[in-house]
Amino acid sequence: MIEQLQQEINELHARVKILQQHIEELQQTCDHHFCGDSYFVKCTKCHKIEVLYY
Ligand SMILES: [Zn+2]
Repeated sequence: MIEQLQQEINELHARVKILQQHIEELQQTCDHHFCGDSYFVKCTKCHKIEVLYY
């Protein structure tokens, strides 16, 4: 039972990783359109966030 659940969690982790890589790929090819405030901006197209305040 536990092993089954752990295996399912591992599979979900792998799936999340693939989806995150897919998002990163899309964000790399996006011609960003940022809007936001002076602390951070967010692209309205791919939702990439860039922090401006350090
Ligand atoms: Zn973008």
